[in-house]
This record gives sequence, structure tokens and C-alpha cells, in this order.
Amino acid sequence: MNRSFSILNSQSSILISGAGSLTQTGALLEQHVCGKVKTLPRLMIVADENAAKFHLEKLTASLESAGFEYAVCAVPSGEESKSLDGLARLWDEFHKARITRSDLVVAFGGGVTGDLAGFAAATWLRGVPIVQIPTTLLAMVDSSIGGKTAIDLPFGKNLAGAFHQPKMVLIDPSLLETLPQKQFAGGMAEVIKYGCIFDAELFAAASPARTINERIDDMILRCAKMKTDVVERDEFDKGERMLLNFGHTFGHAIEKVAGYGNISHGEAVAIGMVAAARYGEQHGITESGTADKIAATLAEYALPVEMPAGLDKRQMSEAMISDKKNFSGTINLILLERIGKAKIVGQVI
Ligand code: NAD
Repeated sequence: MNRSFSILNSQSSILISGAGSLTQTGALLEQHVCGKVKTLPRLMIVADENAAKFHLEKLTASLESAGFEYAVCAVPSGEESKSLDGLARLWDEFHKARITRSDLVVAFGGGVTGDLAGFAAATWLRGVPIVQIPTTLLAMVDSSIGGKTAIDLPFGKNLAGAFHQPKMVLIDPSLLETLPQKQFAGGMAEVIKYGCIFDAELFAAASPARTINERIDDMILRCAKMKTDVVERDEFDKGERMLLNFGHTFGHAIEKVAGYGNISHGEAVAIGMVAAARYGEQHGITESGTADKIAATLAEYALPVEMPAGLDKRQMSEAMISDKKNFSGTINLILLERIGKAKIVGQVI
């Protein structure tokens, strides 16, 4: 087995990252997840349809050579899959495959598949173990790590969910070769977010965009490590983990008011980060010039940086107030002091 993969151990999860790691999944599961059990778990692979089209064969070949039995359930591309219907379909597949608590769910896809499969695994038989194999940049740096799982309800995004930590997160950056540019850019919004909050060097490494492929593997690992560390210290989002929400209070409101699907999550976060930086500058909290620096970097990835015209201001402030991350009478804004240093600013509402 290739020993050059990076391995991060936390209390609940092991994170393995490296180009080509997908082809070693079987052996890595045996070594790091199955431990000393005599019989290998059966696997239920929940696979995004596009990730499956390009990469499923590499995964299944590796599982077969390690002796795993598996079933595959395809998830149609798109946020609509993260729904009650999508969840019911997975439960139905788990039932047909007679999935038990000794088996293992494998989420293979972007944030939609990871969140949906994660919630199905959290709720089936009150909890079946899961492994996350992210296939989008956003999922590699963010959604596959930290155990947040959810589906959307007709009244809002991510409203029904659970914390369910994956046993292993396996990141193979070479899977990004097939990812459409627009999806890659959405993931870069999250990478740039980590730079803004914690790491000025990482922020600087996002430019120039034209040579990003040379640095992206290292940048993914750096983000994954930051998320793992934050989750380790604040699993249930009561303190430091809220910093990861930089740009999201404005971003979620933009997504909601513009209408889900009309603007992507990454685009909304990009606009939200610039808006938060401008707000911080206006209130003397953020070093002046920060918003322009963030906007210039995001623009290199063709991400939007200005509020879409025509968004209703009253609806925007209502959406910000009703964000589920607010606690009794306080809206928690994440603002920057400067690039690389964020803080939580509670505003009474
Ligand atoms: P996504 O899962 O919808 O994937 C984006 C597109 O890329 C889809 O069309 C998919 O079919 C395709 N795709 C996936 N892998 C591919 C590959 N390797 N090659 C080619 N195409 C591929 O979108 P996303 O941006 O990964 O995730 C967004 C979701 O993540 C949202 O639902 C959001 O709420 C959620 N999220 C969750 C967390 C968390 O902590 N759980 C954090 C951030 C975002």
C-alpha cells in the first residue's frame, strides 16, 4: 500500500488524504475501520450519479480485491435529492440490503450525497457507521468532515439532521479532474473562507487561480486539518466551530431570498464574505481594504462578489434573523479583524 498518504487522527474519525487513495479504499478500510473484526462488514455505497459515472469502478475494484461485499445505490445529481423522498428511498434500499449496525454505509459524492447518506445512516436502526469519500472540492474541505448530516424540508435547508461522525474520511484530490469548473469555484469559496478565518498564507495561496492545480492537494489537506481540529474542540457548534460560518449568515439569507437553485451555495458564500468584511470595515472591526482583497481573490474564480440586484432588504434581514445558528435574541455575526483572524460578534436582535 502507498504509505505517502497523509493521515490525521481525531477522537472519532480518521482522515486520509492523497492522490490515488481511492484505489486503496479496500485496504485502508480493512486497516483503519474494520480493525480486528473477524468478518468484514457489508457495504452500502451511496453514490452521486456523476461521481459514479467517472470513478465508481476504481472504488469497487479496490473493495473487491480486499474481499468486501457491497451494494450500490445511486443518488441523482442536485440538491433535490437531499429531501424526505431521497431519504425514504435510501431507507428502502437499506431495508432491501438488510443493512445492520455491523455493516457500513459509504457516502461517495459531494455535499448533497454526503449529507443525505449521513442522515440516512444516522437514523437507520438508530445509527449505522459511515465512511465519507468526498468527490467535490466543497465536500473534501468542508461537508465530509465534522459529522453534520441533514436533509432539506419544504420550509428550509438542512432543517432535519443529526450529528453523525464518519469513521473515516478518505480524500482523493485526483477525483477533482472531472469536476465542472463552476463546482470547483464553489469549493474555492470555502477554501478562501478558511484562509480568511484562520490562515493568511492559505488565503495568499489561492492566487493566482490559473496555477491553482499545482497547489490544490496541499491546500485541501490544510483545510481538512483546520476543520478536523475545530470540530475536535467544538463538535456541537457552540463556540469556535461557529467561526466556520464566516460569510454564511449573509450567504444563507441570499440563497433563501434569491430562491434556492438560482444561486449556488459557493456563490452565496462568496458574496456573503465580502458583505461581512465590508460590514466589519464600516464598524471599525475589520482592517480597511480587507473586503477588496477578498473580492479580488474570489473574482479570479469568476465568483460573484456583489449582492444580486433586486433582493428585498426586509426579506434579507428576516432571513438573517431566522438563521438556525442564532440563539435566543442574538444574531451571531462572524467578522474578521484582518485576513487570517476572525471573531464572533453577537448582535442583539
Ligand atoms: P453536490 O453534492 O450537489 O455536487 C455538485 C455537482 O458535482 C453535482 O452535479 C454532482 O453530481 C457533481 N459531482 C460530484 N463529484 C463529481 C466528480 N468528481 N466529477 C464530476 N462531477 C461530480 O454539491 P456540493 O457543492 O459538493 O455540496 C453542496 C451541499 O453540501 C449542500 O447541500 C450544502 O448544504 C452541503 N454542505 C454541508 C456541510 C456539512 O457540514 N455537512 C457543509 C457545507 C455544505
